[in-house]
Amino acid sequence: EGAYPGNGKWVVLTAIASSSICGGFGLAAVTLYVTGPANVLLLWAGVAAIVLLYRAYGRALRRLANVDGLYQFAVFLATTSDTKGDMTPVLDEIRMMLHAAGADIVIQEDPQAPAVLLRASEPEIPSVDPPLVHLPGPATQTVLRTGTSVLLRAGAPDSEEQAELTQRRARNGIVVAMRTETRTIGALCVLDRDDETLSFGPDDVRLLETVAGQVALWLEHGRLLGRLRDAVAERERQALHDMLTGMPNRRQFVERATTAIRAALRLKRSGAVLLLDLDRFKDVNDTLGHASGDLLLCQVAERLVSASRTGELVARLGGDEFAVLLPKANEEEALDIGRRYAAALAPTFQVDSVPVAVEASIGVAMFPTNGEDVFTVLRRADVAMYAAKESGSEIEVYNPDRDNHSRKRLSVLADLRSAIDLEELTVFYQPKVDLRTGLITGAEALVRWPRPGHGLVPPDLFIPQAEQSGLMGPLTKHVATVAADQCRQWWERGGAITVAINLSARNLIDPHLPELLSGLIHSAGIPAHAITLELTESAVIANPARAKDTLARLRGLGFRLSLDDFGTGQASLQLLRSHPFTEVKIDRSFVQGMLVDPDDAAIVSTVINLGHWLGLRVVAEGVQEEPIYNRLVEMGCDIAQGYLLGRPMPAADFTERLYGPAGPIGLPSRLQAMPTPTPA
Ligand code: C2E
Ligand code: CA
Ligand code: CA
Repeated sequence: EGAYPGNGKWVVLTAIASSSICGGFGLAAVTLYVTGPANVLLLWAGVAAIVLLYRAYGRALRRLANVDGLYQFAVFLATTSDTKGDMTPVLDEIRMMLHAAGADIVIQEDPQAPAVLLRASEPEIPSVDPPLVHLPGPATQTVLRTGTSVLLRAGAPDSEEQAELTQRRARNGIVVAMRTETRTIGALCVLDRDDETLSFGPDDVRLLETVAGQVALWLEHGRLLGRLRDAVAERERQALHDMLTGMPNRRQFVERATTAIRAALRLKRSGAVLLLDLDRFKDVNDTLGHASGDLLLCQVAERLVSASRTGELVARLGGDEFAVLLPKANEEEALDIGRRYAAALAPTFQVDSVPVAVEASIGVAMFPTNGEDVFTVLRRADVAMYAAKESGSEIEVYNPDRDNHSRKRLSVLADLRSAIDLEELTVFYQPKVDLRTGLITGAEALVRWPRPGHGLVPPDLFIPQAEQSGLMGPLTKHVATVAADQCRQWWERGGAITVAINLSARNLIDPHLPELLSGLIHSAGIPAHAITLELTESAVIANPARAKDTLARLRGLGFRLSLDDFGTGQASLQLLRSHPFTEVKIDRSFVQGMLVDPDDAAIVSTVINLGHWLGLRVVAEGVQEEPIYNRLVEMGCDIAQGYLLGRPMPAADFTERLYGPAGPIGLPSRLQAMPTPTPA
C-alpha cells in the first residue's frame, strides 16, 4: 500500500474515523441490548458492513491518496496557464503521481492530422531526442480510435500491447484517451513503474483516465491546443529528426557533414561517410507488412545507435538507408568502423515474433578526396554501396574506376524495367526429352531480352541485377503469362507437354505468387500440372520458412516443382526430402563430366537412384554429346535436356519441332525417328 506519498495524513484521518466508528458501535450494542435483544441483529448487520469496509480499507486508502493527488494536480493545472507549447512540467507531475518513469501525450485532433508526441522521462533514462511529429504505436492508435483505455503488460508476442511496448522500449504502461466533452483530442500514456517490481493496475488506469480528462479540458479551455499546434508547425519546419526512429534525419546529416567537410579541408585531414543499406528490407515490407517494416527499422536504428561511439553521427536518410558521419578517419579506420556497425546488425531480429536476418551493405566514401561537398560524397558512398551489394561483400570503399560501370548498370536496369513494362522480353523454349521414348515431353521457358544495340541479351547478364532491384516480380509474371499461353497453344494441338518456368528467390517470398500463377493458368485454360516450376536450392534456402510455405501451397494447387541445378549447393538432399518436389535436375557440370570423371559419374548415378527412391523424375541437363545421352539411358535417368536435343529456340521453331517433319541436325538418329509428341 501507500501508492502515493503524502497519503500519511489520510492514513491517520481514516484510522481515527474508523476507530471512533467502532467505539460508537460498542456503545450502541449495549444500548440496543437494553432496548430490545432483537435489535442486536441490526447491529450484526452493521458489524458485517464494517468488516467489508475494512477489507476495502487498502483500496480506499489508495483511492483517497489518489483523490489527494488529483486535487494537487488540479491546483497545479490551475496555476499553470501558459506552457508555451512545453508540456514537460505537466508530464512530470503526471509521472510523479503515477510513479512512472516516463509519460507522454500524443495529440491528434482528427484522424487525418499528423499525431504529435510530447514526452517526459526521468533524466537518467537515456532517450533519443523526442520526435515531434510521430507515428503512434498500434495500441495508442486503438485508444485514439475507440477511446477505451489500454493497460500495457508484456503479453502475447503478437499482441498490440506487446508491439506498443516494444516500440516504446518499455516494460509496462497505460494508454488512455484524452477527451473533452465532445471529442477525443489525443492520448495520455505513462510507462514503466519507477519501482521495477511493481506494474500498473486497474486503479492506476482509472486514475490516469481522470487525469487525462483534466488535461484535455485544461488544454482546450486554455486555448493551449492552438498554441501547441503553432509550436509544432514551427518545430516541424526545422525538424532535424526522423519521425519514425527519432534519430537524426537527412537534413541534420547534411548540415553536420557540411561542417565536417569544411573542417577537414581547413585542417588538411580526412573524414568518411558510411552509407548503409539493408539488403532484404523490401522482403520484410512485402511479406510482413509495413507496420512490421517500421518496427524492424526502429530496431535497426536502436542497434546502430548503440553501436556508435562518441564523435560518430548516425542518421536515417530515408527508407532503409542509414548513414554514419566520421568527421575524422582514414580509410582503414572507416572500414573498421563500418564493420563494427555491420556486426551490430548480425544477430537475428525478431519482428512480430518472426526471426528476421538483416544484412547490410555498406559503402564508404572519403572526404575531401572523393568529394568536397556532402552530396558528391553521399553519391559516391552510394556507388560503393552498390559495389558491395554486387560483390556480396559487406563493405566497399569508393573506387572511381567502378563508377563508370555502375552508371552503366543503372541504365541497364532502367532499360530492363521499360522492356518488361512494354512486354518486349521474349521467351525461348528448350526441349526436355524422355530418355525412354526419345520424345519431347516438356519445354523449359528461358527469357531473352532483345535490347536495341546489344542483340539478344542472355538472362545471365540481367537476371542477377533484376534480382537485386525488385524487377523479378514483373519479369516472372511476364514470362509465366507468355509461357502459359504458349502451353495452351501446344495443348490445343494435342501436344500435352509440360512447360517449365524458372522462379527466383524473390518470387518465392512473394505471398501472392500462388494466386498469381493459378490465375494465369485459369485464364490460359490449362491444368496446373501442365506447368513445372523450377527453383534453385539457393532460392529455397534464401528464406526457408517462407519458401516451405509457398512451395506447399503451389504443390497443393497442382503445380509440378523441380529442384534445379542439383548438386551445386550444400543442403540439397535435405531439401529434396523436406519439400514437395516432383522433379530433380542434375546440374550440367556433373552431366558433362560423367564420362571422364568417376566422381561426376558417381554423383549422377546416386542422384538418379536417390531421386527414384524419393519418387521423383530425374532430369539431366547440359546433355551435349550422344555418348552421354546413351549412358543416361543405361543409368535409368528419365529426362534429358541439352544442346544435343535442341538449343533454346523461339516458340515458332519449337512448334515446328513438335509438329514439323524433322528435328535439327545433330540429333541422334533414333530421336529423329520419333519427332512427334506423346498424345495428351
Ligand atoms: P537454367 O535454369 O539452368 O537454364 C538452363 C540454361 O542452360 C539455359 O541458359 C540453357 O540455354 C543452358 N543450356 C541448355 N542446354 C545446354 C547445354 O547442352 N550446354 C550448355 N552449356 N548450356 C545449356 P540460359 O537460357 O542462358 O539461362 C541461364 C539461366 O538464367 C537459367 O539457368 C536460369 O537460371 C535463368 N533464367 C532463364 N530464364 C529465366 C526466367 O524466366 N526466370 C528466371 N528466374 N530465371 C531465368
Ligand atoms: Ca531452369
Ligand atoms: Ca539448371
